[in-house]
Amino acid sequence: MDKRDYYEVLGVAKAASAEEIKKAYRKKAIEFHPDKNPGNKEAEEKFKEAAEAYDVLSDQQKRERYDRFGHAGVGGAASGGYGGGGMTMDDIFSHFGDIFEGHFGFSGGGFSGGFEGGSRGGRYVNRGSDLRVKVKLNLKEIAFGVEKKIKVKKYVSCTHCHGSGAEGDSGFKTCNTCNGSGVVSRMANTMLGRIQTQAACPTCGGEGKTITQKCSVCQGEGIVSGEDTIAIHIPAGVGEGMQLSMNGKGNAARRGGVNGDLLILIEEEAHPELLRDENDLIYNLLLSFPQAALGATVEVPTVDGKAKMKIEPGTQPGKVLRLRNKGLPAVNHYGTGDLLVNVSVYIPETLTASEKETLTGWDNSPSFQPTPKIKERMFDKFKRFFD
Ligand SMILES: [Zn+2]
Ligand SMILES: [Zn+2]
Repeated sequence: MDKRDYYEVLGVAKAASAEEIKKAYRKKAIEFHPDKNPGNKEAEEKFKEAAEAYDVLSDQQKRERYDRFGHAGVGGAASGGYGGGGMTMDDIFSHFGDIFEGHFGFSGGGFSGGFEGGSRGGRYVNRGSDLRVKVKLNLKEIAFGVEKKIKVKKYVSCTHCHGSGAEGDSGFKTCNTCNGSGVVSRMANTMLGRIQTQAACPTCGGEGKTITQKCSVCQGEGIVSGEDTIAIHIPAGVGEGMQLSMNGKGNAARRGGVNGDLLILIEEEAHPELLRDENDLIYNLLLSFPQAALGATVEVPTVDGKAKMKIEPGTQPGKVLRLRNKGLPAVNHYGTGDLLVNVSVYIPETLTASEKETLTGWDNSPSFQPTPKIKERMFDKFKRFFD
């Protein structure tokens, strides 16, 4: 795989200042933080990619080499970089753990012990609200999966202040209430006696600093109303009412926190001819009386076209024929449903005089009269229907 440009990875200009690079990395690191994206391999890769980019661009010498020679200038053992297997999570936390300080209430330490979930305390970070959208899919899109591009209105990070909410780098001062730690201690009376609890600082909201001069564009919020076009990959086999989520694609948080998620609610468009029963599809095939009696080759609709089907002579109404694997794939990839074809027979509602005459003649023919054995077989079937 080709390595992406490090400036592109961090989303900064080639001329970006050291401070801008640090800010951009901090933002990426928070967005793709493993604690925020548990079990998400893609986020982990992005997290590592950003760390690698920051490792190079935050070092004046490495950055110069990179600017002149590209990835070749900083790759491999010669540069002391991470060209071989890339950076490990431990590398990242031991080198750049301080980037999270004041943001997660975390200082140094390794990956496993350093972070805690937001609700368990220890980490105070603004989180953008989730964004909800509905996506309507037809049966074909459900059968094969689909990529949908949707335009959403949402809060995006303010580009003027890079989400910090402050006008320029000097627009901040250390918070007086918490002296920059972002955390305040309180004594609380509980059933277990008086205990000391820690909470996000109410003055700075856990950020450890307060804004002295608000950003002129976002008025200190760090976010502005904007628009985003998001490509949503919808896997095959989803169904009405299912919800997918995309990490970090929701609203941006105030002052450079973590983006909310995009929640995608699936709505299913009814098919004009096919019904869905989980992963099976059901089609009601209406045969003419002669087709059912003589046999025929008919076409039945499928999700993406038509299938030919042989009808045996003497096929009874109520018979269910099965086209294997012509249903919908299971969303977990375990198997594919069938297309069930329920046979119905159309009995003519009006007849011409000569047709009536012919049919009257046929009714006296033994072939048209069920034998006791056939009656018994039909009754068995009828009974099973009520079981
Ligand atoms: Zn701003
Ligand atoms: Zn504070």
